Amino acid sequence: MSIPLRTCIGCHKTTFKSELIRIARLNDGRLVADLDYKKNGRGAYVCPNLDCISKALKIDRLNKAFRINPNSANQLNLDIINIAMQDLSKVIRQQ
Ligand SMILES: [Zn+2]
Repeated sequence: MSIPLRTCIGCHKTTFKSELIRIARLNDGRLVADLDYKKNGRGAYVCPNLDCISKALKIDRLNKAFRINPNSANQLNLDIINIAMQDLSKVIRQQ
């Protein structure tokens, strides 16, 4: 059995999936912290610290991680990113 490894989209370090927070992109386009790694939709991973989270939550980086076409109707915007920032900050404060 292999141990799942994932790469943080903030610092690009590869580590055990269990050490990272999964960010899920829901069908409605929102980004949420997915603590159980089970939400539907494409996911990206980030270290549980504010430095990595703030590096990760940049439109360019998210577009790449989630393979979003920046010209599509379903693209990211600052509201989505600000809400994701609040959600992830809350998660790391609780840990
Ligand atoms: Zn990181």
